[in-house]
Amino acid sequence: MSVLSGPGKTTSPRGQAGASPRASSASALAPAALPPPRMAASPKAPGGLAEGVETGPARRASSSAWLGGLLSTCANPACSSGWLHLLRSRSAPVFEGGWSCSPACTLARLEAAVRRELEGRRGESGNPYRHRIPLGLVMLEQGWISPAQLRGGLDAQKHAGDGRLGDWLTRHCGVSEQLVTRALSLQWNCPVLATDGFDPGAMALLLPRLFVEAYGALPLRLAAGKILYLGFEERLDPVAALALERMLGLRVEPGLIPASQFAAAHQHLIAARFPRAELIESASEAPLARVLARAIERKRPIESRLVRVHDCLWLRMWTRAQTGGLPDIASVEDVICSLVLA
Ligand SMILES: [Zn+2]
Repeated sequence: MSVLSGPGKTTSPRGQAGASPRASSASALAPAALPPPRMAASPKAPGGLAEGVETGPARRASSSAWLGGLLSTCANPACSSGWLHLLRSRSAPVFEGGWSCSPACTLARLEAAVRRELEGRRGESGNPYRHRIPLGLVMLEQGWISPAQLRGGLDAQKHAGDGRLGDWLTRHCGVSEQLVTRALSLQWNCPVLATDGFDPGAMALLLPRLFVEAYGALPLRLAAGKILYLGFEERLDPVAALALERMLGLRVEPGLIPASQFAAAHQHLIAARFPRAELIESASEAPLARVLARAIERKRPIESRLVRVHDCLWLRMWTRAQTGGLPDIASVEDVICSLVLA
């Protein structure tokens, strides 16, 4: 049986090639398609999750910024400065779409945001995908491998004491890498993504290098300025995908990439230039909020957002208006707090 004409040829879970970056038009590759970070109308709904009124950073940075600041209401619900803040000519910083009138109010907002992000952390340990059908059985069921090949792969894996079954199948049992990736995509119910049109320099602007290294998240391509294809090698990381979605205000489509393509693209991305990032370690919640609030007061961003990615809090600050296209590397700065909480 030829591998390429096997029964799984068209069994991408999304049904057709439309889910693959390869299928989209060339114009979708234009980096100018990236929208500026969307501002959520409510400070409680950062990122792209809420269908809030969108006001790009450009609005804050316009010539009426001073007036805007003058008339703005402080976004800290417990702000006690009343109309005194009208005397302060601050139009920045802005955090999650809301302006804060003083360092104290910025800190209050960051404390609330840190609490919000850490709340969801406890219930996350369980793996919702642990009941997936084993890879070998998926492939056997599809007729992509024979029982002898599966036995051979499992034996090799057992004797070696480690390694992934997919790797053993490709290395020792003559199974194609594409087929293993397709089987993994059935397990994860996600598309197989191709690395065609991958631009490491552009994609590096979308996330800190740490997340590429630690979580194997590989932004592949932006389609129509709205959909980010996010590739993984062997298993999806829904937490990282959701964090990117909230931070960037894009719809994130996670998928799997064949191992050799992933390795090559990963290497190129790691070598690309990423926005400036500050790494901080903290053992408790209170100093975290203080460090983040200080960073915001120092940079005076026209927009900033906080999301959690596993055990990291990621603050991104945009210091200049994004007039379409990918962010300018000099106008974006990340702060990443790694949580070592008990
Ligand atoms: Zn205030």
